[in-house]
Amino acid sequence: MSESPATVLAGLGETRTWQEEFYRQLHQHPELAHQEQRTARGVAERLRSFGYDVHEGVGGTGVVALLHNGDGPTVLLRADMDALPVREQTGLSYASTETSADQDGHQVSVMHACGHDVHVTCLLGAAELLAAVTGQWSGTLVTLFQPAEELGDGARGMVEDGLAKIVGPVDVALAQHVLPFPAGQVRTRPGPVLSAADSMRITLHGRGSHGSMPQAAVDPVVLAAMVVVRLQGIVSREIAPTDPAVLTVGSIRAGTKSNVIDDHAVLELNIRSYSEETRQTILDAVRRIVTAECQASDSPREPEFELFDRFPATHNDPAITERVRACFDDFFGDRAADLDLQSASEDFGDLPTALGVPYSYWGIGGVDPDTFEAARRAGRVSQDVPVNHSPYFAPVVQPTLDTGTQALVVAALGWLQH
Ligand code: ZN
Ligand code: ZN
Repeated sequence: MSESPATVLAGLGETRTWQEEFYRQLHQHPELAHQEQRTARGVAERLRSFGYDVHEGVGGTGVVALLHNGDGPTVLLRADMDALPVREQTGLSYASTETSADQDGHQVSVMHACGHDVHVTCLLGAAELLAAVTGQWSGTLVTLFQPAEELGDGARGMVEDGLAKIVGPVDVALAQHVLPFPAGQVRTRPGPVLSAADSMRITLHGRGSHGSMPQAAVDPVVLAAMVVVRLQGIVSREIAPTDPAVLTVGSIRAGTKSNVIDDHAVLELNIRSYSEETRQTILDAVRRIVTAECQASDSPREPEFELFDRFPATHNDPAITERVRACFDDFFGDRAADLDLQSASEDFGDLPTALGVPYSYWGIGGVDPDTFEAARRAGRVSQDVPVNHSPYFAPVVQPTLDTGTQALVVAALGWLQH
């Protein structure tokens, strides 16, 4: 182990005490995307007490805090703050019973079912540890607490609200996510790590008529059916089998009654890919096929396309990831391992991409190691280990918080160490 991480992390014994309390509080009081006021206030207050230059209200509830400590690189560490509309069923003593109005005004239960409370707590701990031992490193540390990751627009909102001006030039951006593997482990992966996600709403126009007089109609149900079948050819025929991608038609709506031919149909698609090129290929192919099928059906109007819930692909810079991994190997030993390609999506990449900065994103385990081992032996990991977004998702407090805090400090020092 190199000297700096050990010296900086010597303070973990004290930091851990407030972190555990802070974590349980945060878990008990989760806030939905774009509503993270209480969380952001708590974060900003602590960062100020550690001596950071704190910017609040960035892109809504975002918090950006800088610590200048002489010459050297600038490292950005990011945590997301939002919770989900999920009714917690973990049975934990600090389980959430919160409810809140969602975007559509519906009252919903709220839970930190994705573990963003872990991310916030670990980053605050790392921020304090690094601020307390400034003699061990030099450069600039940027800690960034982001709203609304779950909606995919929180990072973009911070960028559009002048993030680049606040942080100045940045050399590397780093982030982590708690995942359903044994706590105490850190897992890295160079290259593609999380998928890009796009949802698309397509409106197909027909001509309405009586069900007994199809000759007077352009039937949007038949048109939609042709489109759905034809779309299946994109991933299977236009994308290489070595390049994973998904196109799902998750929703199809048309018509009200058996003897009425409607005048339009609406399809909703979900698309996953692991590179910008593949993403664009699929989106272009969808437009091409839908437009051509509308022509084939003599549709009276051009189809309409609306993209929503969009997440960028997360593509770890190989050199940056190699450096992070070397630091992890040094500090964690055999607790550092390889992360599998994940099918989930994240908007973290929007931050470094907008800033023109290379990045790496890694996973930390959140499952009690004995519980995980028992499930593995029984061949029941996917059945018995709750995953992110499950109402039963309950990372063990330790060693999850310690590991996430250590990982951030160790990786940041990979650039900031003298
Ligand atoms: Zn999530
Ligand atoms: Zn998440």
